Amino acid sequence: MYPKRCAACGGRVATSTVALPFCVRGETVEVPDIEHGACTGCGEVYLSLDATERLQTEAIRMSKAARGLLAPAEIRDIRRSFSMSQAAFEDLLGVGPKTVIRWEKGTVFQSATADRLMRLLRMQPGLSRALLSGELCVPATADRPPIAVLAKRYPGR
Ligand SMILES: [Zn+2]
Repeated sequence: MYPKRCAACGGRVATSTVALPFCVRGETVEVPDIEHGACTGCGEVYLSLDATERLQTEAIRMSKAARGLLAPAEIRDIRRSFSMSQAAFEDLLGVGPKTVIRWEKGTVFQSATADRLMRLLRMQPGLSRALLSGELCVPATADRPPIAVLAKRYPGR
């Protein structure tokens, strides 16, 4: 919780839900409805730890929505609809290790290409079989196993 008196000016701190600015990747997002304390004298803002987390989560969600990208929770839901671990989902999409966990936390934004691929998978879950079956021939690299290896690793999808 926040103090009754402002630490900066001694003024009264009142409960407020006025929109708070939060910077996401260089852009300021105004996040509404986060309850906080605001000094009636100098305007100093007091946030609980819980409110700080909600402010960050909501700012990331709003920023991604404004860019037309799936929100972290949407990515998690799509991945879970395939009953896949984050590592398995990374293999399916052909992205590097630890990428999906960063998307799901909101610390890294997915590319427009990855975003569209995930939307396609949500619309047409059967496409995951094509990705894993070897119908799509993707040359293997050091960090991307051949498609036949993926099919063995995640059989039945
Ligand atoms: Zn104050």
